This record gives sequence, structure tokens and C-alpha cells, in this order.
Amino acid sequence: MEQLSIRELLAKNLYKTDPDGSHIHVNQEVARRTGAARILIEVCPARVYREKEDGTIGVEYAACLECGACLAVAPPGSLEWHYPRGGFGVQFREG
Ligand code: SF4
Repeated sequence: MEQLSIRELLAKNLYKTDPDGSHIHVNQEVARRTGAARILIEVCPARVYREKEDGTIGVEYAACLECGACLAVAPPGSLEWHYPRGGFGVQFREG
């Protein structure tokens, strides 16, 4: 049986985006003061976070793998994160 790469395995996931909005919210003022952008960008395996030209942090919440890594390392007060509502978010297809 052929061994799939991590990228190929992740591509099999299903993502159901909550039309009511994001389950991730960045407190931009705290994030700017604490340098949270670099931390969040480095830790997220799904590249959900990006630093925008104006210095704020953009959040592509639809790509979230719900691993919780960002919440574990975010400077206090910089991030609000909760699981998506039932029926929304990532559905893993390959373990
Ligand atoms: S929970 Fe994981 S995948 Fe989702 S934004 Fe945080 S680090 Fe990225």
C-alpha cells in the first residue's frame, strides 16, 4: 500500500465553515504589544495566521485543524479560541 505524505493526508480532510463567523478572535492591541503575530504564525501547522501590511494579524479560520497549539502558546489576552459549533470545523478522514 502506498504511503501518503502529510500534505496528501491533510488534503483528504473536510472543512465545513461556520457561516456565523470565526471561532478564533485576536485582540489586536494585546497581540501588537506582546509580539503574538510571530508566535502564532510559527506554531500554527495550518497557516491560519498571517501578519497583514498594517501590522494586524489576519485569521483564516476555515483552515483550522483544531489542534489547540495556538491557544497553548498565545500571550495572555491576545487570543480567544473555542471549538467551532457542532457540525462545523474540520472532519478528519485519515486518522
Ligand atoms: S488550533 Fe491549531 S490549526 Fe487551529 S489556528 Fe490554532 S494552531 Fe492553527
